[in-house]
Amino acid sequence: MIACNSVRPFIKIHPPVLERRRDSFSVQCRVDGAHADCIWFEVDRDPGILKVEQIADAFVLPAVLGAMARGCDAHLDFAVSESLLLSLRTALLPLLLRLHPDLFPHATEIRAEGAIRLPSPTAHGSATGLSCGLDSLATIADLLNLPASHSMRLAAAAFFDAGNHDPLHTGEAPSLFTARAVNVGACAAEIKVPLFVVRSNVDAWFPGVFARLHTLRNASAAFLLAPSVRHFVYANGVPVWATRLSSADSAYADSVLLPLLSTEALTFHSGTPALDSIGKARLIGDLPAARRHLNVCLYEAHNCSRCEKCLRRMLALDVVGVLQQFGDVFDLGRFARARSWYIGYVLTYAPRKEPLRELASAMQATGYLGQWGFVHRARWWLERVRGVVRRRLRLPVDKF
Ligand SMILES: [Zn+2]
Repeated sequence: MIACNSVRPFIKIHPPVLERRRDSFSVQCRVDGAHADCIWFEVDRDPGILKVEQIADAFVLPAVLGAMARGCDAHLDFAVSESLLLSLRTALLPLLLRLHPDLFPHATEIRAEGAIRLPSPTAHGSATGLSCGLDSLATIADLLNLPASHSMRLAAAAFFDAGNHDPLHTGEAPSLFTARAVNVGACAAEIKVPLFVVRSNVDAWFPGVFARLHTLRNASAAFLLAPSVRHFVYANGVPVWATRLSSADSAYADSVLLPLLSTEALTFHSGTPALDSIGKARLIGDLPAARRHLNVCLYEAHNCSRCEKCLRRMLALDVVGVLQQFGDVFDLGRFARARSWYIGYVLTYAPRKEPLRELASAMQATGYLGQWGFVHRARWWLERVRGVVRRRLRLPVDKF
């Protein structure tokens, strides 16, 4: 970092430089005084950029939060949306300081000029992140259900690498991202929306594990789409009534964070805010592309149908009566074998875990459980014993 008159250290972020290739482009800001010498994005298609200022706000969050995590100020050598600048100074940064004192031990000052970001004349409709997970596909279905004339009708989708494709640090991030991008590309083609695949090094700038600041990580990349769309709809992970300021998962604070990110050119919204996982499962049951492309697994490029996330999504689909339509993306035989003990797991831990509470409530409300709740619980405990024995014998056990 650079010392400024021996008072406050700062990092300096130079103006973004755009490099166009045939259809794709890269854009990067050189940085002085930080742990890395640049922030960069690569996008596989041009959203219609007329001048680099239209996408400059993509660099603001990684630069400012990267500086704040290191206890220094951020000097941005280019104009920032004045709405975003005001929100950062008056609300977002003070909120992050209180919410994540371990990530941001000191306040930071932003030195930058504010500018009004005029909306692009060609921008229209909404974009959303397309990961092909349950939240993502529910948002897609919701936006596709809007009338064709609606100002927020889905016009584009995006697939971001913002540090979320290597949850176990296996070193396989590039291959997982690439494999997932193939599925996402096929899904986008099926629903007939242009897809923007964005790679970046923002993971090196946002502190903490992905879940803690995922809303801000993904939003930084979303600014690259401002020349093409007027709105970015962020698929919500939890319903709006579960809103709270969680330090562990920014999804719980989306309804607070997203409005603070809006600029004059691009506004942020929460997708399907009034749906929990059961409501989303019901919604995607009517989306043919979901039956071929739903991808929820944390560990593998295709659904393993064994991990907790895969089982949780299969159970939600089964509760609403559409699981049999998802035989192309899940191993339904494996679910049938695990179903009883997994239901027991859900019932046992529902009081402590919000996502399981939704499932348990839905099973009760729909009569899915019948009279056999105690049998499922017993099977879960037997499954636990089986796992302990297999570990003792050094036999393989599922990641659960
Ligand atoms: Zn899985």
